[in-house]
Amino acid sequence: MKAVVFEEKGKLVLTERPKPCLEKDTDVLVKVTLTTICSSDIHIKHGAVPRAVPGTILGHEFVGVVEETGKAVKQVKPGDRVAVNVETYCGSCFYCERGFVNNCSDPLGGWALGCRIDGGQAEYVRIPYGDNGLTKIPEHVSDEAALFTGDLLSTGYWSAKIGEISKGDTVAVIGAGPTGLCTMMCARLYEPGKIIALDTDADRLKTARENNLADFCINPAAISEKELEEQILELSQGRGADRVFEVAGGKDTFQTAWKIARPNAVVTVVAMYEEDQILPLPSMYGKNLIFKTGGVDGCYCEQIMELIGKGQLDTSPLITHRTSLEHIMEAYEIFEKKQDGVIKYAIKV
Ligand SMILES: [Zn+2]
Ligand SMILES: [Zn+2]
Repeated sequence: MKAVVFEEKGKLVLTERPKPCLEKDTDVLVKVTLTTICSSDIHIKHGAVPRAVPGTILGHEFVGVVEETGKAVKQVKPGDRVAVNVETYCGSCFYCERGFVNNCSDPLGGWALGCRIDGGQAEYVRIPYGDNGLTKIPEHVSDEAALFTGDLLSTGYWSAKIGEISKGDTVAVIGAGPTGLCTMMCARLYEPGKIIALDTDADRLKTARENNLADFCINPAAISEKELEEQILELSQGRGADRVFEVAGGKDTFQTAWKIARPNAVVTVVAMYEEDQILPLPSMYGKNLIFKTGGVDGCYCEQIMELIGKGQLDTSPLITHRTSLEHIMEAYEIFEKKQDGVIKYAIKV
């Protein structure tokens, strides 16, 4: 079968690999129908994900059809259309029992697919703990509509949840890339007073505004830092944002995040940085901020799929490009260089 393999730092190849088989009774074999490229794949390519194992098939965001199930699998059967969760988890360890599945203590727990074990930029994939990692797609939901359930939407849903948004809050989201847009989409579920999108890319801000994901857009590259802080104050009765989501992971975006937050705000850091960040405690003393950081706990896929089915989560504006697995390496180039207004690819397998 065809598959995208992470050979070594800086090198991804589309190559032939044997079709995987079930290894454990809890495994499910999925025939991939639609896959995509995530910025985490680019981080792996750059060598910025230390636990990524060379030789692994990439891909952790995809949908498909169940081909075969292990004896212990109860939730899905061959022929079911499913969305695949970015995280595999045992469901019974200390962390899983508390919903912190990102830190599942099983050797295969957390983000393993397309990082430490073979993922879904391929024709077939073996999913460990299939009962936990697969969500059935209702008949009226298309593959495209369900594509981002397990990663992007899971991340947006989880971050909006831990961000503690209350009705009427002023929410600032730094970064209007795919994850930022999904964070805005999920923040909307909590009925904030306004959502302010910040990004240096005018096209992405336009997408946020045109799809009613953000109410106000600010391009920090077009104004000074002082002007940016003033604009946020103006939009928040002089206080600063009640809730800040840092989804950009840029050079200065962490600093922007705490500066535009009002005192006692919750600042949720979703971004994955390629370098260390500075926490200037003397400057933020007295602001009494609450920081939340992390990687998605992807255990809300059932709720997400229900919201997709009802039309409350609609990621169709994010799919700007479509291609097939044979052409995925061209897609990688465009996606990595952010050319051609690309937000996300839908890649037919
Ligand atoms: Zn991802
Ligand atoms: Zn676990």
